[in-house]
Amino acid sequence: MVKEIIQQQVDFFQTQQTKEVSFRKKALKCLQEEIVRREDAICDALYADFKKPKFETLAAETQFVLAEIKHVPNNIESWASPERVSGSWMNWPSSDYIYKEPYGAVLVIAPWNYPFQLAIAPLIGAVAAGNTVVVKPSEITTHTAAIISEIIKAVFDPAHVTVVEGGVEVSQELLAEKWDYIFFTGSPGVGKIVYQSAAKHLTPVTLELGGKNPCIVDDTAAIALAAKRIVWGKFLNAGQTCIASDYILVHENVKDKLIAALKENITKSYGENMEASPDFSRTVSQKHYQGLKDMLVGEEILFGGQSNDEDNFLSPTLVNEPKLDSKLMAGEIFGPILPIISYKTDADIDRHMMNYGKPLATYVFSNNKKFQNKIINTYSFGGGAINDTVIQITNKRLPFGGVGQSGIGAYHGKLSFDIFSHHKAIIKKANWFEAPVRYPPYNVPMNLVKKIKHLF
Ligand code: NAD
Repeated sequence: MVKEIIQQQVDFFQTQQTKEVSFRKKALKCLQEEIVRREDAICDALYADFKKPKFETLAAETQFVLAEIKHVPNNIESWASPERVSGSWMNWPSSDYIYKEPYGAVLVIAPWNYPFQLAIAPLIGAVAAGNTVVVKPSEITTHTAAIISEIIKAVFDPAHVTVVEGGVEVSQELLAEKWDYIFFTGSPGVGKIVYQSAAKHLTPVTLELGGKNPCIVDDTAAIALAAKRIVWGKFLNAGQTCIASDYILVHENVKDKLIAALKENITKSYGENMEASPDFSRTVSQKHYQGLKDMLVGEEILFGGQSNDEDNFLSPTLVNEPKLDSKLMAGEIFGPILPIISYKTDADIDRHMMNYGKPLATYVFSNNKKFQNKIINTYSFGGGAINDTVIQITNKRLPFGGVGQSGIGAYHGKLSFDIFSHHKAIIKKANWFEAPVRYPPYNVPMNLVKKIKHLF
């Protein structure tokens, strides 16, 4: 079945229909209308999957992707047009261009944590750039996968865009085929499998992965505001956010003050009985929930730690000084557990930062500009924020992506168009002049050839 789907899309791409900008605009307009029409149903699906609060689904899923679509019609003509660049003396007289060419058949594989946004946002870029697309949503968020499938069916000819639902086997079946581009969002472990599959066909990829994101709080930070912003970014989506703070590194002088402020803000956000809060999601599955509970065994819990096996509920939890070799600090936590580790010197920060691969995000809370810049310039990470968390994803003019272990490539806004386009270099040469120098027999004096760099 997978082979047939791909062949159908390859054939459709050959018809050249997707090269028409008007065709792409029309398709994205239909997608926009369908999402708007079903916005409440999408919220219901995410609630059914892991009790995601409606506010969070609207803000971080549907409105997020609608903002991405809204940006396309006003810009697509200029993005898709050949871009004129200056010529070089070497080729004079010529007109030099970068043509944006769709790759062809694109595969998008999505995770479960922002299951709508992370399937639809790459799709928008791929369609805007003129590709055909197969979307494979996560099998863990079944209700969302079903509504994504319904929306795509209602909007697109399956030869242009279609959804293939299923789990790991289906994903592997898709990856065994030859694609022109693969866009994967998920864990670094599966990212390696995707990269290996792509390598067999030399298929280019974007890998949007995860990491262990530090949040550094120094002794000049505005602690009350820092705690408010850390709590929001960490416990949003019950900590299941790839760019959430994974752990806090706090200067020992302000540790107690920060812990008190974190506790106060968690209670303010979710109440005394956090299980009853309508604003707090559940852990997505029994398996993930159990994994998180295992991480807490033997740890000193400063706050929270309440759980309910019936509902995969784990409350916002603060943990004091876990050991570096503990389960909690071994890899990405991806849940509502926030370890707090104190530091004394910059060397202590360095020891922690260098212990993991390059993270997707890093946050710094500090009023010391020198310290802020030192962290930005010393360490490599996907992106981040100074005196806030998570917000870097909300500006479509900023690239969103990782580096090293946290991913390859970045998207959002115009970049989403660019990553799904091959940039084809074309020189249009005039025929009315021909410099004789480049052709054999080479009679040009070598001391002149040594100056040829000035003509490139
Ligand atoms: P995952 O890697 O387990 O699954 C992602 C997708 O890959 C799913 O569609 C799944 O069906 C498929 N898959 C799983 N195992 C596979 C295998 N062996 N072979 C082929 N395909 C396979 O990730 P997840 O648990 O859904 O999501 C959580 C991870 O995603 C975290 O690490 C998180 O940091 C990361 N993430 C990154 C971003 C980002 O934008 N960088 C966003 C969200 C999540």
